[in-house]
Amino acid sequence: MRHRIAVIGGGPAGLTFARVLRRHGYPVTVFERDPAPDARPPGGTLDLHEQLGQLALDKAGLLAEFQALSRPEGQAMRILDTDGTVLRDWRPRPDDRANPEIDRGRLRDLLLGTLDIRWGRTVTQVVPGTSDGALVRFADGRQEAFDLVVGADGAWSRVRPAVSSATPHYTGVTSVETALDDVDTRHPDLARLIGDGSLAVYGVNRALVAQRNSGGHVKVYAQFRAPLDWHTNLDPADVEALRSTLLALFDGWAAPVLELLRHGGTFVHRPLHVLPVSHTWPHVPGVTLLGDAAHLMPPLGAGANLAMLEGAELAESLAGGPDDLDDVVRAFEEQMWARAGRWAKITTAGLERLVSPDPAEALALFDQVQPS
Ligand SMILES: Cc1cc2nc3c(=O)[nH]c(=O)nc-3n(C[C@H](O)[C@H](O)[C@H](O)COP(=O)(O)OP(=O)(O)OC[C@H]3O[C@@H](n4cnc5c(N)ncnc54)[C@H](O)[C@@H]3O)c2cc1C
Repeated sequence: MRHRIAVIGGGPAGLTFARVLRRHGYPVTVFERDPAPDARPPGGTLDLHEQLGQLALDKAGLLAEFQALSRPEGQAMRILDTDGTVLRDWRPRPDDRANPEIDRGRLRDLLLGTLDIRWGRTVTQVVPGTSDGALVRFADGRQEAFDLVVGADGAWSRVRPAVSSATPHYTGVTSVETALDDVDTRHPDLARLIGDGSLAVYGVNRALVAQRNSGGHVKVYAQFRAPLDWHTNLDPADVEALRSTLLALFDGWAAPVLELLRHGGTFVHRPLHVLPVSHTWPHVPGVTLLGDAAHLMPPLGAGANLAMLEGAELAESLAGGPDDLDDVVRAFEEQMWARAGRWAKITTAGLERLVSPDPAEALALFDQVQPS
């Protein structure tokens, strides 16, 4: 196989695709919008499932390194009532490797390895079916043609319009993210409250979730139902105004829980958008999608896992499959759509239950997923 293959986006999907393809000895060009790997904060922690993300890392030959870098103890989950009562306190067995956590930055570095990435190359459009193949247009005015362009450019994909008119829509749930550093030394009470993994508190139509990353870093997510424009009257630079607004939203919750919101130095607004459940498209020769670009869903522990497995599977199929790219990609798409559709249904229903008018729904969901 000596096809010209490009992947747009150096996230979990694109990097896993490139790593596995390269492991099989095939060249691939990765275009990434960020100017450098550390151009922006890498984000929080990801749990990688044995049958999804970890399987993808195995296909990339990186499972042993992942096991050394990941935090199995990070699977721990504590759920509190809004009055601070501990409702569940689940801890993994020491040998439990079902869903260990890894910092996104560490995962990115692991996948990057010695891959050659074209940094700072923002794609604006992909035009399939030109006489020279699929044409990739860049923000800097350049363009390049390939036999296959793989869109792994996330939620707001610029590749997606080449195959589908679908766009993400707002779920009605928004998330505001803040973070604590050196939690064990600077906020020891909070460190104890959070434990080794995640802490979640579910109230009426709102939730507070804290997740431990490595190095005493904790990400805190305040999630609630609100109109998309709920914050238009707030100055994003006015941290104290944002803090007071959030504290008012969670008014009446136990004081130790509210401490999670009192110390963060910045608040990042992330309204949760999704693509339609079971998003598919009529196959377009020379272009396909992976990960969030194909099936953006609520952030309930599946998106990066699916993105990575899809990247690994498409790469393996291209390396081992027939020479006809289209046959390989068609078969891959059918498989991706079926699995992603199942997960989109699960995570969409999950979000409804986690940020719900009846907080007992969240607890029932946890008991279903993690029976004691
Ligand atoms: C708070 C939160 C917690 C989450 N936790 C988990 C979890 O525990 N487990 C899990 O499996 N999933 C989790 N997810 C979901 C997960 O983050 C995503 O599903 C995953 O990152 C998707 O990977 P991707 O490679 O498809 O897209 P992305 O990670 O979005 O990567 C896309 C890449 O493409 C680049 N790019 C974008 N546009 C362009 C362009 N025009 N040109 C060139 N490059 C471009 C971007 O810079 C980026 O590097 C979480 C999500 C959130 C928001």
